[in-house]
Amino acid sequence: MKKTLSLMLILILILTGCGSAPIDPAPSITPESAPETFESPESVKEFLISENASYVENDINDGNVSQDLRTDTAVNGQTPYAVVVTCSDSRVPAEHVFHAGLGELFVIRTAGNVIGDYELGSVEYGADHLHTKLVVVLGHTHCGAVGATLEGGAHGYIETITNEIASCLPEGVTAEDAEILNVQNSIAKIRESHIMQELEESGAVQIVGAIYDIETGLVEFL
Ligand SMILES: [Zn+2]
Repeated sequence: MKKTLSLMLILILILTGCGSAPIDPAPSITPESAPETFESPESVKEFLISENASYVENDINDGNVSQDLRTDTAVNGQTPYAVVVTCSDSRVPAEHVFHAGLGELFVIRTAGNVIGDYELGSVEYGADHLHTKLVVVLGHTHCGAVGATLEGGAHGYIETITNEIASCLPEGVTAEDAEILNVQNSIAKIRESHIMQELEESGAVQIVGAIYDIETGLVEFL
């Protein structure tokens, strides 16, 4: 029985290629994804605008998710060009919205794209360690978290999210304005980080807001 199992294991290893020679570093397939390719935060923003236009025109996201790129990024590491903080809403998948493949975007998602300590640490990591030049806080239309806040909040841990959103909203605000104010509130939270302040003041990083229209697919930068 043991011998049969060993033979089966060897056969599986041969068939799947496991245990073969170590993988060779593949040449970088998406040089445009490397941060140093972009001269400035503004050029990253322009690139994202054009990629969003491609997403709107196409029914399929043909961002690079190839085995070659998986191998390349596994061996050589990641070089994303932008941090995207967005909502967990299943209609707002950042990589699709910006027509991106593997290794291009450093994405942080919470319901209502709110920023707490973990999210702020993640933003710092993307900007300071991975050297992304642009941080985008991407809110969206018909946001359930903003809607729940306007309707009076929620129970359980969801309340921590609606309380955070409520803290930046004046009374009687419309849903559309609330979505923008909520993005601006998250940007203000990011700017509380000394690391992010220094990066932004030096011009190495720009922090911008945007709203994604879940119906048309368009991202509008604020
Ligand atoms: Zn949302």
